[in-house]
Amino acid sequence: MRILLVEDDPQIGAAIASALEDAGMAADWVTDGSAALASVDSGAFELMLLDIGLPKKDGLSVLKQIRQKRNAIPVIMITARDAVEDRIAGLDLGADDYLVKPFLIDELMARIRAVARRRSGSAQPQLSNGDITIDPASKAATYKNDALELTGKEYRLVHSLLLAPGRIYSREELEEKVYGWDEEVNSNAIEFLIHSLRKKTHKSAIKNVRGLGWMVPKA
Ligand code: CA
Repeated sequence: MRILLVEDDPQIGAAIASALEDAGMAADWVTDGSAALASVDSGAFELMLLDIGLPKKDGLSVLKQIRQKRNAIPVIMITARDAVEDRIAGLDLGADDYLVKPFLIDELMARIRAVARRRSGSAQPQLSNGDITIDPASKAATYKNDALELTGKEYRLVHSLLLAPGRIYSREELEEKVYGWDEEVNSNAIEFLIHSLRKKTHKSAIKNVRGLGWMVPKA
């Protein structure tokens, strides 16, 4: 999962960014409201963590503009303890959830998983298709009920594909989901990951659709 983090406090931002990466998510971090709007337009993100008090444009204005543009990206707001009005306004403007500072990273992770689950239209905490199952809470993956050892990038790739079995993802889409902004991406990086995943599972687990991209065939 690729997440856009919008937080101007360097310490809080760094702590969240590193926790997201530890949890196997690709995190891109911006520090003001204008950069948030510019970034979210790329469509590369599956979720946005949005601080309310931000330079240039506050979080509520950012959220309002995003929803006015009919961008439905899931948004979790980060608010101050005493800012009840902000939380109400945010939810009314279309936020999916909020967290009150200071919060535990574990709670943030659980809320991200819950929002992602609701958005994928599934209350099931696990994602599975055919013989492959992953558990976003523990990052555990299984193939034919046997443990499947995945690298962080392999996990992110499988997670993206399993969110929509049968949907074809282009190379650019998969690169955006697997890699952060600051990472160099080799031209054959996605092929390399898919080759490795097929070796760990089965050749037919991920299908190449010539000229278009890859998918997991709907089981
Ligand atoms: Ca702030």
